Amino acid sequence: MSLGEFEIISRYFGSRPAREDVRVGIGDDAAVLDSRVDKKLVLAMDTIVEGVHFLAGTAASDIGYRALAVNLSDLAAMGAIPSWMSLSLSLPHGDASWLQGFASGLFELADRFDVQLIGGDTVRGPLVVTIQVGGWIEAESWLTRSGAKIGDGVFVSGTLGEAAAGLALLRDRVASGSDAEYLRSRFLRPEPRVSFGRSLRSFASAAMDVSDGLLTDLGKLCSASGCGASIDIDSLPDSPPMRALFDEEQRLQFSLAGGDDYELLFTASTDQVREVMAADRSGVGITQIGVIDEQKGVRCVRKGVPHFFKDTGYDHFMSAKA
Ligand SMILES: [Mg+2]
Repeated sequence: MSLGEFEIISRYFGSRPAREDVRVGIGDDAAVLDSRVDKKLVLAMDTIVEGVHFLAGTAASDIGYRALAVNLSDLAAMGAIPSWMSLSLSLPHGDASWLQGFASGLFELADRFDVQLIGGDTVRGPLVVTIQVGGWIEAESWLTRSGAKIGDGVFVSGTLGEAAAGLALLRDRVASGSDAEYLRSRFLRPEPRVSFGRSLRSFASAAMDVSDGLLTDLGKLCSASGCGASIDIDSLPDSPPMRALFDEEQRLQFSLAGGDDYELLFTASTDQVREVMAADRSGVGITQIGVIDEQKGVRCVRKGVPHFFKDTGYDHFMSAKA
């Protein structure tokens, strides 16, 4: 690449604000961090690949932002406080303006959550970004997918399907105006629900983030919990920008099967519903969309009648989801 690895690291990724618990940070052979006796360490790692998870030609700043956002979302789903990240960057060219843009998007989000880059690697290859994030959680208070109980309500934060709608608009390069702009930003710059995830620790029985689509992800939560769920599709959160640009069938497709929302999907006992709603101090929006039951699998219901949702095979360009 035109810039050497050392030059890339020192110019774009070095000399950032330092956390107190980082004793040795980026630039040495490895990082050294303070450990904590009162908390548990939480780690997650996610990779995004050009042409699989984002379109070729996506702005470098959006790629940097998104690569970290999807990782922070996994920590949010556990109820953890993010603290550090390491970055593996495979780049076709060591292009200075691309790196500048990538670093600006990455650190815009990192600085908001006080996440320090503590190391990584750069190689020449196809455009692939892997980030590992680390954080802390108070002992025994983490959230998992496996705690849902029969009779619990199924809830989501925010709205579902907007990222998939935004990706459809990005792909087809159609629609201008503020609704289209909003939906595109929901795909490019998902908001990790970190503080909402923290608040869920006191009452959620199970939680995960929605990355692969509601039905797929709720199916994973149910199988981890040894139960099933029924979803009332009329209760799915309303999205005025989606309503303005897509018909009902497309909206349902996006909401039930579209991925990349990075909202939190969680279960809680229904007598705690008020507490669930009161947790919404961030204004993120919480909607009950269904209930956990004993019948295996996830079923859709509309006006009390089973609704057989058929994934019409909308061409998710990221069909290679892990
Ligand atoms: Mg996840």
